Amino acid sequence: MTQPTNAPPAVGNARTPIGDGDAVPTTPDHARRLDHPATVDSPKKIRWNVAASIAAIHAAALAACFPWFFSWSGVIVFVLGVYCFGTLGINLCYHRLLTHRGFKTPRWLEHSFAVLGMCSLEGSPASWVAAHRMHHQHADVQPDPHSPLVDFFWSHISWLVVENHALTAASGIPRYARDVCRDPFYFRLERRNRWLLLYPIHAALFFLAGAALGWVLTSTAIGAVQLGLSWVVWGVLVRTVVVWHITWSVNSFTHLFGYRNYNTGENSRNNWIVALLSNGEGWHNNHHADQRSASHGHKWWELDVTYLTILALRAVGLAKEVVQPQGRTPRKI
Ligand SMILES: [Zn+2]
Ligand SMILES: [Zn+2]
Repeated sequence: MTQPTNAPPAVGNARTPIGDGDAVPTTPDHARRLDHPATVDSPKKIRWNVAASIAAIHAAALAACFPWFFSWSGVIVFVLGVYCFGTLGINLCYHRLLTHRGFKTPRWLEHSFAVLGMCSLEGSPASWVAAHRMHHQHADVQPDPHSPLVDFFWSHISWLVVENHALTAASGIPRYARDVCRDPFYFRLERRNRWLLLYPIHAALFFLAGAALGWVLTSTAIGAVQLGLSWVVWGVLVRTVVVWHITWSVNSFTHLFGYRNYNTGENSRNNWIVALLSNGEGWHNNHHADQRSASHGHKWWELDVTYLTILALRAVGLAKEVVQPQGRTPRKI
């Protein structure tokens, strides 16, 4: 199958709305199984650096269980962080802007949102885009990089820590994300994995900000250090783990559990729990049916906070050419 190399791949929007009298389709069925992509051509190979990083951050986040690291300001930073790094960085920028070009925003703002995405430690913009476009092109068939039809844990996390031939064999980034790499900002960060430096840098900034507040509140060194570490534990580590599992749940749960508005030819589902936790990404069947649409909620009650954020950006002149769901009359700007 050929694939454009210099533009977002045309992964298609094949869909058939399900009418009131239609039976909800059950295919592709849960019983269907895919071969393990990592073992199709060769034995399983663990990416130890990725596995160790994921394990270490999960372990470090457990520091939140110790009261010494607790602070209400840390919890507030955590909640705001899930929105800023997860919703703005991953959903809005990595997914709806860079992968699907569902709207346009000034380059400085796009890059700022992309930095938030990189601080979520879900991969560089180009690698995230490549894996996700590949998923849309081959959803729930080989070589989908993370279909739960292999098994649940494969789709949730294992596909990241096991060498995935489905991705490497397709030369992922050059093939699927060349348009992203054409931007020197992303290209420079991609080289030698420079984007990874952003994670410790932003963690240090969180520590300094928390420590400054702690100094103001207590005028003691231990008070400053304690609040600085609290912000790192809650605002960086716990937030990273929570945003990870929210994103991973879109890959796993929403291809297994939920309802369907459209016959899309794969197993995508709308899952309201994932949709609420992810601020809109859980309306995944809608998204597979209409991939470029900036809005993933197609019914009035399918709340999509990420889309509301895009509309807010448009209202203040920071977003334009917002792609509407097919069949809906574009709103006047
Ligand atoms: Zn999907
Ligand atoms: Zn998508």
